Amino acid sequence: MSGEADRRLVIAGTGIAGLTAAIYAARANNDPLILEGDEPGGQLTLTTDVENYPGFPEGIGGPELINNMKEQARTFGAEIENGVVETVEEGDPIGVTLTNGRSLTADAFIAASGASARTLDIPGEDDLMGYGVSTCATCDGAFFRDEDMLVIGGGDAAMEEANFLTKFADTVYIAHRREDFRAEEYWVDRIMEKVDEGEVELLKNTEATEIHGSQADGIDHVSLVRHPDGHPKAKLESGQGDAVERSDLDVGAVFLAIGHTPNTEYLEDTPVELDEAGYIQTEGGSGGGQTKTGVEGIFAAGDVVDYHYQQAVTAAGMGCKAALDVDEYLESIEQEAAGIETAQAGD
Ligand SMILES: Cc1cc2nc3c(=O)[nH]c(=O)nc-3n(C[C@H](O)[C@H](O)[C@H](O)COP(=O)(O)OP(=O)(O)OC[C@H]3O[C@@H](n4cnc5c(N)ncnc54)[C@H](O)[C@@H]3O)c2cc1C
Repeated sequence: MSGEADRRLVIAGTGIAGLTAAIYAARANNDPLILEGDEPGGQLTLTTDVENYPGFPEGIGGPELINNMKEQARTFGAEIENGVVETVEEGDPIGVTLTNGRSLTADAFIAASGASARTLDIPGEDDLMGYGVSTCATCDGAFFRDEDMLVIGGGDAAMEEANFLTKFADTVYIAHRREDFRAEEYWVDRIMEKVDEGEVELLKNTEATEIHGSQADGIDHVSLVRHPDGHPKAKLESGQGDAVERSDLDVGAVFLAIGHTPNTEYLEDTPVELDEAGYIQTEGGSGGGQTKTGVEGIFAAGDVVDYHYQQAVTAAGMGCKAALDVDEYLESIEQEAAGIETAQAGD
């Protein structure tokens, strides 16, 4: 250990992964400073009800769960601060600079900066997020039992989400802006079976332009555009809108499945390995359950690594693992430093 660092541990992110790591690290006397980023509390603050987090038979509000965790982390001595990490510099100690100009050093760093779901940027979307519009079918599908649902997207995630939603929905519609799906054949085949069974209806070459409804009553309907050659919105924008057909679709829920962007810009100039999409590669590759990156003292946890499961409980689990791995790491470098001092004293 350098003995010069400002903190033993800095954690980027107050989502469930970062807060779990902070609770474990604080209890292990590793003095964590945890930085909120642009979205204090992370993705769970965007949802009203979490029904699948163990220990809450009646469910719990996302913000309430996060506030409880913040309180728990503070109880054990974690410090939570507003701040967005701008750069990280490998070394002993690790350098961390924030967008507000502050810089500090740490013996260890956990990247728990999550992933942001991509959105469509259409009217109604922001207003109804959490009130019928969702980016997580596994999380919110059950709230719309027996209603018609619209999934937007054409990749594996969209197919997987649509397939999952058939458990609850009356009809699942999939709107995709092109004729062909990007999803793997396996998923397309499964969806085509559901189409044959009447559970799924495909809306190809179709895009949503507005989501109508209110927070009090949820979604009323969605405005759609369709062009026989695909990309109808681009056609409209480029003045080729003659063949664009407009329609309205009555649905109770809209699931956006157009991908996530991991929040890893601040690691781009470091040797921390990122995959093509920007997810952090830990030991065993991205999507694996490990927290050690290839760079000494830098660990990662939650959705910023795990593009596959992306659940509160799995992110919390990784946060726990990261804190335990950090503890082991700090202990090993302390022992190493003590060994060097003993050897020097014996010279
Ligand atoms: C609408 C919705 C509903 C959901 N419902 C459920 C559910 O019911 N059950 C379930 O299991 N899962 C649910 N999920 C998924 C769950 O929220 C995520 O899997 C989980 O939040 C991931 O936690 P995380 O800590 O890894 O990342 P996040 O929650 O994404 O948190 C990331 C944190 O990092 C911070 N950050 C980002 N960049 C920086 C930076 N440069 N510097 C410092 N900090 C930074 C952000 O501000 C944020 O605090 C839902 C997701 C959404 C969007």
